[in-house]
Amino acid sequence: MSVTSARDVRLSLDGDVNYFTGRPYSDRFKKILAKRKELAVYDRMAAFYEMFDRNQVCLYVGETGSGKTTQIPQFVCYSDQPHLKGKMIACTQPRRIAATSVAKRVADEMDLPLGKEVGYSIRFEDVTTPDCTFLKYMTDGMLLREAMADPTLSRYSTIILDEVHERTLATDILMALLKQLIKQRADLRLIIMSATLDARKFQTYFSLEEGALVPLLKVPGRTHPVEVFYTEEGQEDYVEAAIRVVLTIHRSERPGDILVFLTGEEEIEDACRKIHQEIEFLFSHKETASSIGPLTCLPLYSSLPPQQQQRIFDAAPEPRTHGGPPGRKVIVATNIAETSLTIDGIVYVVDPGFSKQKVYNPRIRVESLIVTPISQASARQRAGRAGRTRPGKCFRLYPEHVFTRELEVQTPPEILRSNLGNTVLELAKLGVKDLVKFDYVDSPAPETLMRALELLYYLEALDSGFNLTPLGTVMAQFPLDPQFATLLIESPKFGCSNEVLTIVAMLSVPNVWMRPVHRQKEADRAKWLLSLPGGDHLTLLNAYNQYRQNINDNKWAWNNFLSKRNLAKADNVRLQLQRIMERNDIPLLTNFSDPESEVQLHENIRRTLLTGFFTQVAHWDPEKKAYLTVKDMQPVQLHPSCDLEGKPDFVVFNEFVLTTTPYIRTVSAVEPEWLLKEAPKFYDISSWPESPMREVLKRASKRLNRKTKQGAAA
Ligand code: ADP
Ligand code: MG
Repeated sequence: MSVTSARDVRLSLDGDVNYFTGRPYSDRFKKILAKRKELAVYDRMAAFYEMFDRNQVCLYVGETGSGKTTQIPQFVCYSDQPHLKGKMIACTQPRRIAATSVAKRVADEMDLPLGKEVGYSIRFEDVTTPDCTFLKYMTDGMLLREAMADPTLSRYSTIILDEVHERTLATDILMALLKQLIKQRADLRLIIMSATLDARKFQTYFSLEEGALVPLLKVPGRTHPVEVFYTEEGQEDYVEAAIRVVLTIHRSERPGDILVFLTGEEEIEDACRKIHQEIEFLFSHKETASSIGPLTCLPLYSSLPPQQQQRIFDAAPEPRTHGGPPGRKVIVATNIAETSLTIDGIVYVVDPGFSKQKVYNPRIRVESLIVTPISQASARQRAGRAGRTRPGKCFRLYPEHVFTRELEVQTPPEILRSNLGNTVLELAKLGVKDLVKFDYVDSPAPETLMRALELLYYLEALDSGFNLTPLGTVMAQFPLDPQFATLLIESPKFGCSNEVLTIVAMLSVPNVWMRPVHRQKEADRAKWLLSLPGGDHLTLLNAYNQYRQNINDNKWAWNNFLSKRNLAKADNVRLQLQRIMERNDIPLLTNFSDPESEVQLHENIRRTLLTGFFTQVAHWDPEKKAYLTVKDMQPVQLHPSCDLEGKPDFVVFNEFVLTTTPYIRTVSAVEPEWLLKEAPKFYDISSWPESPMREVLKRASKRLNRKTKQGAAA
């Protein structure tokens, strides 16, 4: 590369002093630098600046692992564009784990402490320093939230939208907003980055002139051929099949690490445990012990603690004896490893062909995560992970005709398969008036938009003309779904905002209940000891309160089968939500603190749940032996984890879990009168068609009227 400007000198980094701190570079830094210089993106630095300097918007497409996410934002940092002074560079990621992990890596690469010049921001976790941070990795959702408070994103000079091919809901909305914003802010730079992308579509989308195209830089990665193998038939148990393939590779293939794609935490932990057991078994037998090398099996999913995440970058284990069979590393990961994080040294990929995807059914108003076959594009990306360092092999655990004839070509964008309640509220806050004519990259289904508008109308976030109400403005301040925000806003009326705040915080963090495979009975008993009559929400409240009371006992959480880490997270989330409540003058009350009024307190908490989740109610149907969801009468069962006494007639639920049987999870008992009282607009049964639920509600309505009249007479 020829040195063309001062910044190239800074970037060649051959000096001994850090440009940003004036301090000498560490040895660790120099080692990392040598690796960086091998990346394909590093090679194309001059071409990047050529494009970046001359254009307000540009596209950058490069193979996964070529260095886009780690290098391009740094190039922008070192650029000598005057518009950078005093403003920040944002680089968005669809996944939290990518934002945090890459920020850490880049801070290391720049020889700077994480959270100062280089930081990250994800929901409920802001690791940046005001007036110091200039490079900020963040989730796309966080940038969208910032846009709500500051619609021109005035604190940023450059916005890098990364992993655009993932087409998450937040990235799609950001693209539409930024397309408007670049017309208003001539000084704002926009870089659209991706691994695989229908580049033409975005070159046209972002072009401000008819027929023109936004410039594109395409950097071919240094990839090696990957041989793809299929199974003869589909697999009945793909986890079991994946484990078999891993063991076969370990016993018979040349050195090289293995990457296995599974769908979620439970499945992954289970597979890791089984692989360890099998390896132990092989080591315990004389015939096999000497012929196989050591194997480390590591999980990778988004709720994994950071130290454990970092371990995926460690080298494979050393041979057990000098000259013995070499060690191997196996990573069992979710989709995260498909494009977001690159692990060096992978030579074998095991791909059962599934991932968990969000699916929204507007008819029954529920969004759920479902294990779904991946697309051809995903399958190709996964296979590509095997060819990063040398020729590799990819084992697809399904027949070839499934790939060619059954898999979709591309995964549909999230905007087409999500509940848009939150998004519509955000757009309303951003001043978007016409949701149908808004310049989406791909427009959502009208029915889905209707459902979102309807919900926000019932929540009184929008008025009948679909304008944002003052209540809606307050709701939009919470980084929560509008139903949860409503609970916090309404809870003081029921004198239990302290308790409801705790419940919302507990529902905003990963599951706090631990249930290790070998100790399920004990874990269930521990949960039972913490449970309160009335349902899961009160039990969550009790678990948190007990945790706080025993905060000085280091072993308490462990002894009670609770995740200390997630409880601490809930504590932190609670504090942040509390601050937003205080800013909006929402008082924190516990009006029923004496033991005699506990029953009243618990009733009020359950009533509060209905102010937000009135659409997520189900009614027990003794004939069908199932709960039927309100209005659309979808039969559902209580999830086995639910902790309810008997079968209450009416329940409110937080989650809809679609497996072979549809389940509802996190459930509390409620009364029909409460529904009519707390959500009168939605439960205006005069317009409902005949149904058993309507009859029950009609009777409840009569009882309620009688009570009101009696109350008035007295
Ligand atoms: P891209 O965004 O193009 O997929 P990245 O910039 O994420 O590529 O990664 C470039 C290289 O940096 C990869 O080879 C990856 O292995 C390495 N890398 C990224 N994060 C880490 C980390 N935390 N530790 C070690 N290496 C890392
Ligand atoms: Mg990347």
